[in-house]
Amino acid sequence: MQTTRIDRRLVCRTCGATSDDTRLYICPFCHQRVCLDHAYRMGGKLFCCRGCAEEFFYSEEHWEDD
Ligand SMILES: [Zn+2]
Ligand SMILES: [Zn+2]
Repeated sequence: MQTTRIDRRLVCRTCGATSDDTRLYICPFCHQRVCLDHAYRMGGKLFCCRGCAEEFFYSEEHWEDD
């Protein structure tokens, strides 16, 4: 029986790149990893996808625009 040493969560959720291949970022909304190529940048943060970014800021009611 073979065990893998790589934690399968420590990969880009989109392309599967590992932290050895590239720099991985943690989505502040769903906490999945994503590489810079597939990160979605919004409000100075990096998310794994646009949906997470919109959900994250949508739920933050204290953002003031004026
Ligand atoms: Zn990727
Ligand atoms: Zn996410």
